Amino acid sequence: MNYDVVIVGMGAAGLQAAIAASRKKAKTLVLGKHEDSALFWAEVENYFGVRRVEGKEMLAIGMEQATSFGAELMEEDVIELAKADAGFKVVSDSGKEFTAKSLVFASGISRKKLKIPGEKELFGKGVSYCSSCDCNFYKNVPVAVIGTGSEAAISAELMTHYASHVYWVAQEMEASDNLRDKALAAGAELVTAEPTEIGGEEKVSSLILANGKSLEVNGVFIELGARSTTDMAMDLGVMPDPEGTIKVDRKCSVGVDGIYACGDITGKPWQVPKAVGEGGIAGAEAANYARGL
Ligand SMILES: Cc1cc2nc3c(=O)[nH]c(=O)nc-3n(C[C@H](O)[C@H](O)[C@H](O)COP(=O)(O)OP(=O)(O)OC[C@H]3O[C@@H](n4cnc5c(N)ncnc54)[C@H](O)[C@@H]3O)c2cc1C
Repeated sequence: MNYDVVIVGMGAAGLQAAIAASRKKAKTLVLGKHEDSALFWAEVENYFGVRRVEGKEMLAIGMEQATSFGAELMEEDVIELAKADAGFKVVSDSGKEFTAKSLVFASGISRKKLKIPGEKELFGKGVSYCSSCDCNFYKNVPVAVIGTGSEAAISAELMTHYASHVYWVAQEMEASDNLRDKALAAGAELVTAEPTEIGGEEKVSSLILANGKSLEVNGVFIELGARSTTDMAMDLGVMPDPEGTIKVDRKCSVGVDGIYACGDITGKPWQVPKAVGEGGIAGAEAANYARGL
């Protein structure tokens, strides 16, 4: 099947890009799994005009909106991208092949996992990968922040403004002196130990350490940094920056004709308002490019 615009990613950025592209009458396909969007487990209260809304609901409405304007949605991952005569060849994980005149990368980031018992089971029930997103839900309760680098230091400092106590669990220290000192001066307690298990039945109640001790906490923030899904972009001549994100200009162009990017994949802040803003621009620009406007 031939499309004007193919969008890789069915999250906040990809669906907004689909709305923008299809409203410009570009034949648009969105590939990706909405349940794999970072938004799926989020509860958002920082989006303009909306008091508090479940990410699942935002995604469901966004999917409805995109299809109502004519975009096609397919819950399949992209496994191969290549340049082709008419633009680009796109292959999905079921082996289907598509062509696109322009492409939009909206594939988000995959947050690094700790891989300890309790992490998966209690995700969204006290386990979080985004302190700037979830800080407000942990007012006046004790929390732990896990991680050795700058992400963890920034998170530990931030959480001192919300939580009753912040344990910063780091086996070694990779954060800059400046960020480490800021977090400690704000009141975070450094715990030099290896976390082995997150405890709790319905909600997080403890973090168990390899030294046999246990911290009583209601929240565990896993801040190990994040890895971008940019390998396929490199196959098209798009060079990610050293942090693994794809830089874009004000038109969300990545610097290769016909290729655009939006959302978490373009770098911080990893937030819905930025993803949606960029999605609107990328979708409209990709449609213009495909239609030769
Ligand atoms: C627990 C949690 C809470 C959060 N809370 C907030 C909050 O309160 N406020 C806020 O502003 N932000 C919050 N965020 C961040 C917000 O969810 C993200 O910034 C936003 O979802 C980014 O949108 P995106 O479209 O770039 O990526 P995502 O929404 O993550 O979507 C990425 C999409 O790409 C797809 N994809 C990946 N690889 C492929 C592939 N190979 N082929 C096809 N598709 C692919 C995925 O399936 C997914 O559909 C939260 C995040 C988390 C994890």
